[in-house]
Amino acid sequence: MTNLASIEIKCLCCGNQFESRKVVSIDSLGPVTTDFFEMSVGQQPIRYLIFTCPECGYTGVSSEEGPLDSQIKKFVEETISPRLKEEELTSGRRWEFMAIISEAKGLDDFAIGSMYLRAAWLSWLDGHTGDEPGYRRNVTEYFEKALNKEIVLEDRVYWTKYLIGEMYRRIGDEINAHKWFDKVMEIELKHQNRDFWIDLARQQKTEPKEYIREPVSVDDLKKEKRSFLKKIFRMFGSNA
Ligand SMILES: [Zn+2]
Repeated sequence: MTNLASIEIKCLCCGNQFESRKVVSIDSLGPVTTDFFEMSVGQQPIRYLIFTCPECGYTGVSSEEGPLDSQIKKFVEETISPRLKEEELTSGRRWEFMAIISEAKGLDDFAIGSMYLRAAWLSWLDGHTGDEPGYRRNVTEYFEKALNKEIVLEDRVYWTKYLIGEMYRRIGDEINAHKWFDKVMEIELKHQNRDFWIDLARQQKTEPKEYIREPVSVDDLKKEKRSFLKKIFRMFGSNA
């Protein structure tokens, strides 16, 4: 189970103080989707890794230290705050705000794409089908930009290309999904888990599945050897 504790946050943007919750412990025993959302039993930790100010919409992590750049403050006031009044503040939306603000701060395309991936996972989980396709398209856009700029670490090339394919598959764009699954199968880079990625890309192209680890009982999962998946999630995972 995921355990949460109360936390007092002071907004770096407007100075508002508000109460939120943070994750104190995680036991990830839930299902794992084929777009690499490792779910926890009970509450999903990724809902509580970032904080959105209810006054201005500034979104960040609790460990972030100020002062905030005045241009970013202005950006939040003009871009995020008006949306806070008009749109429902879902968990997916908070990750979208995080991505938009992080991009304004100059974070790289791979990092921004990873934030939109979290927005996509949560809008999928919460059934916000109106937001989900747009977030998935954002993931493809930022990951493709990161690949073109060659800023994706060699260790993450399989993961990144596979996920672009899987994003397209999940929005029903079969042509682009197959194109990217083919690209995964064509990668020549040596990787200790190369076979895993090739097999997964082939599976998602020919007989796609929604889960890598199906939702099953906790007792079954405890017996299961999960060292390989654990390693992947340490590197890229939803709880990191
Ligand atoms: Zn604020």
